Amino acid sequence: RGRKMSRYINEKFRSLEEYTPGEQPQDKKYIKLNTNESPYPPSKLGVEYANEQAKLCYLYSDPECTELTSLVAESLLVKAEQVLLTNGSDEILNFAFMAYCDEKTPAVFNDITYGFYKVFAELNGVPSTIIPLKQDFSVDVDAFMKAQGTIFLANPNAPTGLYITLDIIEKILASNPNRIVVVDEAYIDFGSKSAVTLIDKYDNLLVTQTFSKSRSLAGARLGFGVANAKLIADLKTIKYSTNPYNVNRMTLGLGKGAILDKEYFEENCKKIIADREFTTIELEKLGFTLTDSKANFVFAKHDKIDGKTLYLKLKDKGVLVRHFDNQRITDYNRITIGSHEQMQKLIVAIKEILGE
Ligand code: PMP
Repeated sequence: RGRKMSRYINEKFRSLEEYTPGEQPQDKKYIKLNTNESPYPPSKLGVEYANEQAKLCYLYSDPECTELTSLVAESLLVKAEQVLLTNGSDEILNFAFMAYCDEKTPAVFNDITYGFYKVFAELNGVPSTIIPLKQDFSVDVDAFMKAQGTIFLANPNAPTGLYITLDIIEKILASNPNRIVVVDEAYIDFGSKSAVTLIDKYDNLLVTQTFSKSRSLAGARLGFGVANAKLIADLKTIKYSTNPYNVNRMTLGLGKGAILDKEYFEENCKKIIADREFTTIELEKLGFTLTDSKANFVFAKHDKIDGKTLYLKLKDKGVLVRHFDNQRITDYNRITIGSHEQMQKLIVAIKEILGE
């Protein structure tokens, strides 16, 4: 990690393996396709609301986030008491680890999935039960049905982009009602069906979503959980015991604009889905194999060039993608869907690299 800790740090954190965020280079301008951000700016309406809120920043934000919570709830057709806004969805995920895992209740998740689950488990001192994806990266549903603990499932999954249907989620939920299932829907808006419709039917379901990707607010930090009111009350208890003002005024303004500007949101999602199809077809023409991604990224490998080499050569050409140091997926790169122009430039760069 290259950062020296003091001798005072708690023993339990000394060997904590922290999360490695994707590169956020500050030196030169890359075509940035490595952290699943939106290529489109946030809603102008939201920027106006945020400007108004900036002037009011001598006052604390509303700890209940009353207005935006109602707007989010309305947009999802649920009640306000079934929604909790947080500082990015990372925060609600951490709250879920704090609330629903302990030494006797491990966190259960896939071997290839969002890297933060492992870190949150360690941070909170809870054991992890890791369920390997099958050879084709599909979820081992039987293993999840049998597993004891609190389940964390990213759907669509990252970095594979694969989506599991709601009947499978229901099977897992119903297989053990004494166990919480967290469905992390960070990428749900790019063409798949949300499990939010199941929260009244299953009181052990927590769905998390984010404004970071489909609503262009990665830098504002806004996410939320949706569940029955009792689970939301659990998570609120943790929020009020850590940081009651976890969502700041500017972010509340940006979030409000993002929800009210529904057309802009839908138009951006449509463009990203179309460019995902475009990128898939172009990469397949060049001999790549891709997963059937339902997210704002593709996951691709090529027989003739290993994942790390392609990543480095693209970086040389000013295109940043994400390569993971994980043996099972070392052949692959995860490529965020940017604007159409950015994807055209990516294809040109890859053609040059393959032609060398
Ligand atoms: N879940 C998954 C699967 C993700 O890929 C991400 C993005 N890093 C997050 C949650 C968290 O995103 P955020 O905290 O920006 O809402």
